[in-house]
Order: sequence, then structure tokens, then C-alpha cells
Amino acid sequence: MVEASNSQLVDPQGRRIDYLRLSVTDRCDFRCTYCMAEEMQFLPRRDVLSLEELARIGKIFVGLGVKKIRITGGEPLVRRDINTLFDALGQLDGLKELAITTNGSQLSRFASELKRCGVTTINVSLDTLDEERFRQLTRTGDLSRVLEGIDSAIAAGFERIRLNAVILKGQNETHIAPLTTYAIDRGIDIAFIEEMPLGQVNAAGKALEFVSSDVILEQLQQQFDLTPLAPQAHAGPARYWQVASRTSRVGLISPHSHNFCASCNRLRVTAEGRLLLCLGNENSISLRELLRAGMSDEQVETAIKQALLQKPQEHIFDKPHEPQILRFMNASGG
Ligand code: SAM
Ligand code: SF4
Repeated sequence: MVEASNSQLVDPQGRRIDYLRLSVTDRCDFRCTYCMAEEMQFLPRRDVLSLEELARIGKIFVGLGVKKIRITGGEPLVRRDINTLFDALGQLDGLKELAITTNGSQLSRFASELKRCGVTTINVSLDTLDEERFRQLTRTGDLSRVLEGIDSAIAAGFERIRLNAVILKGQNETHIAPLTTYAIDRGIDIAFIEEMPLGQVNAAGKALEFVSSDVILEQLQQQFDLTPLAPQAHAGPARYWQVASRTSRVGLISPHSHNFCASCNRLRVTAEGRLLLCLGNENSISLRELLRAGMSDEQVETAIKQALLQKPQEHIFDKPHEPQILRFMNASGG
């Protein structure tokens, strides 16, 4: 059991929380088939946290010992004036890593500004290098803009850039090797993610589309010389392999086949300010209500610590008898 000082977040399982994923919008310029429905009803703007509220939440969590904040969404870079949030978070003493997950569509415009604001790590979602398949998977995306965005991020010189690819049966299983080669050639990392069944995106057989990380690893090992890396503290749910004599690492994120709940170190705040204790579970409190009720930072801290007592031991994606998770991924920030 981890001993915690009063200013730190430790849950009843003894897991120290030092990583916050902050969703800044539920809106997006893409409609990825595994993340959103084609027609989406987005939150009314008044229900979404303001940039000032987001910055305040970031500051409160860093005061509680959070060392890493990842900005996500929806697509964070479609939110107007989002650079002001990065600017504010980048100045927080105690924050070691400021990260963003983006679809890359606006990255060529934003890369150098993000670097200037203190963003250290960028994850860019990229499921295929085939233009037509890309359009099918994202419904509205333009692959060339994303590739330009990746080049801009590389040129801006971030500490770490990782591609994220969700692999779906029959759709992009054969794209695993080309994506890996693309990452290796650019000296960046790549992670393959098992699809998680969230929201009612596709009425038929949600859970059946994911490709197991074991199958992906087998494919990778046939083509690349990979050495498993020891799990790193705070690496999150990804397991990594080093590509021989190259700088790139290949990661696997396996919510189905390798449960990572025991080492979970994270909390999520949704775009509407719900503090989610677990991605696969509906337990939450509304930080937006606390903020808008005029509570002090100390009162909000106390409410967060209280809520943490409810953090579940593990997620429930693979337990059919449990209630279905009806949130779309864009609403909870991936
Ligand atoms: N729009 C940004 C992007 O696409 O990178 C950030 C938000 S997106 C929800 C964050 C991550 O979640 C992306 O890497 C995306 O591929 C992943 N994702 C979305 N839906 C998913 C699902 N059902 N299962 C697994 N990963 C998913
Ligand atoms: Fe948008 Fe990201 Fe969801 Fe795709 S995965 S629809 S880019 S939020």
C-alpha cells in the first residue's frame, strides 16, 4: 500500500493518481467509426467547461500531486483559443509532462505553438496510410493533412511523438506493418490499441471487431526485430517493445486481452466537467457544478479526494452482466 501525504491522491487500492486526462471538447472534425456515430448531438456550449475552468481544474490537480496532464477530446485543436489553456498549464510548477492526443488534422498549424507553450508529448491517431481506408474509418478526414501535421510535429522537436492506431478486424489488420515502418522511418513511436466497446456507435457486435494485441504482436514479430522493454513507472497501460537498432518503440494497449487496471494511475475529466474515476465505469462527480457553485480550490480538492474513494478496482468492458457504457469515446477523452 502506497503511503500518501495529505496533498496526494491515493485510492483505496493503494494506487497513486498522478495522471489526469482532461477532455476539452466533445466536438471533432472527424467521425471515426469506432468513436462516434455519423450524426452526433454535441453538448450545448454552456455545459462545456470554459478554458478558465479547465485551467483551474488543471491547477487543482497539480496541487494534488498530478505530474502529467493529457489534453484530449473530441479533437482538442478544434476548440477556439485552446492555445491559452496550453499556455496556462505549461506554467504550472510541478507539472512534469504536458501531453496532447490529436487526430492531427490541425497539427501543421499548431505544432510550433504547442511546443512553445511547453507541450512535451504528442500522440497522433493514425489507423492507416491508405487514403481511401482513412476516409472510410474517419468518415470526413483528409489523410494528407494528418501526414503534414505529423511532419510539423517532428520538425517542432517534441520529446516524444507516438502514433495511435486502433486495429479493427477486416478493416486495417493488414496496415499494421506499413504503419510501423512509417513510424520507424521517422524515429517516432507507435501503439496499437484494442477497440473498446463504448457508446452505441454500431448496433451490431461491437466487441467482436477488436483485434487482440497478441495477434498484432505475432504479426509484428514476423517482420520486425523487437525486444520487450521492462514496464516503466507511469507508462500507463501500454506495454512497449524496442525496435532493434532504431529509436522507435512499438506499444500495445490491450484493455481486453491484458487487464491493466492494477496499475491504473489516472483520472479523467470530461468536457462537461465530470470527474470519471474509470473509463469503463459510470462513477463520477460533477466538478463543473462545484466550480460554478463558487467553491474554493480547497473545497474542490476535498470533493476530489472523497470521490477517489469510489474508484473501482477494475473496468467492466468484458463483463456482459454489468451495465453497458453508453458514453461515446469523444465524450470521455479516450
Ligand atoms: N481526437 C483525438 C484523436 O483522435 O486522437 C483525441 C480524442 S480520441 C477519443 C483519443 C483516442 O481514443 C484516439 O487515439 C482514438 O483512436 C481512441 N479511440 C476512440 N474510440 C476508441 C474505441 N472505441 N476503442 C479504442 N480506442 C478508441
Ligand atoms: Fe474525433 Fe478522435 Fe473520435 Fe476520431 S477518435 S472521431 S478524431 S475524437
